[in-house]
Amino acid sequence: MTAIAVLGSTNMDLVAYVPKAPRLGETVTGREFRTAPGGKGANQAVAAARLGGEVVMIGAVGADEFGVRLRAGLASAGVETAALRTVEGASGTAHITVDDEGGNSIIVIPGANARVTGLEAGDASRIGAADCLLLQLELPLEAVLAGAEAARAHGVRTVLTPAPAQPLPAGLLAATGLLVPNEHEAAALTGLTDPHRAAEALLREVPEVVVTLGAAGCLYAARGREPVTVAAPRVRAVDTTAAGDTFVGALAVALGEGRAMPEALAWASVAASLSVQRPGAQDSMPTRAEVDRAAGARGAGGAE
Ligand code: AMP
Repeated sequence: MTAIAVLGSTNMDLVAYVPKAPRLGETVTGREFRTAPGGKGANQAVAAARLGGEVVMIGAVGADEFGVRLRAGLASAGVETAALRTVEGASGTAHITVDDEGGNSIIVIPGANARVTGLEAGDASRIGAADCLLLQLELPLEAVLAGAEAARAHGVRTVLTPAPAQPLPAGLLAATGLLVPNEHEAAALTGLTDPHRAAEALLREVPEVVVTLGAAGCLYAARGREPVTVAAPRVRAVDTTAAGDTFVGALAVALGEGRAMPEALAWASVAASLSVQRPGAQDSMPTRAEVDRAAGARGAGGAE
């Protein structure tokens, strides 16, 4: 079993479905309201656990009703939550408006996530015991950096999703083994809109890069090797929320099981392509059996 540590955010998504999003100063009547657990860290943790990873989540929820639900949701997905602290104040929330065209706007209030400013007792050894550490940028950057450095000190592979895009602290990329930006994040980090050129530039800082390209799959680049493109299965997408998080969770599981990178990427693409065919974030994530079945139908490991 692949042991995966996730140091990241846990949010409650508060989603309003409206015909048309309100302009500034306007009030509109929406159709429906839903709450769903989210946060990039928790999403990656759930994706990996559902696919058979042994996952510990490091982070924080608030001392509120959402915190109780967020913790219970992670636990019921099979994620270990002993290192998920409950801190005073509100849990992280994402206030999402989805209009009839599928467009959305989001306000994230970090809440408890903002209180995670470093590692606490036991975290470094949890990271040290893992095959891989998953990081994103929804916690204070000093905590992300501390996690990456702890992983490096223990020889644990770090997979960083640089989202939401923002300038990175010195030293974070140096402690990163595998960087997984989407096209926009790759462009934001490098100023280069061509994913091949962006990946090439990023290789000056990290040994391996995977740029995800939505329906076009992903581009894998490593120092001293020809870049390869791995196609995504052609599917009818209904909701691409958390596709990238599903992809990263699946990739971590596949790599931890010893699969070679191209095969692991093909398997992760199958997992992500299943998630886009269903609505929701964590609700849309596939099980191990679903991914293995779909990958098997496409040939060994799901490769094109
Ligand atoms: P993204 O974050 O949009 O780049 O998507 C991450 C991964 O999810 C991609 O590399 C694909 O494997 C998968 N994916 C996203 N959108 C689609 C889609 N429309 N069809 C199939 N796979 C998708």
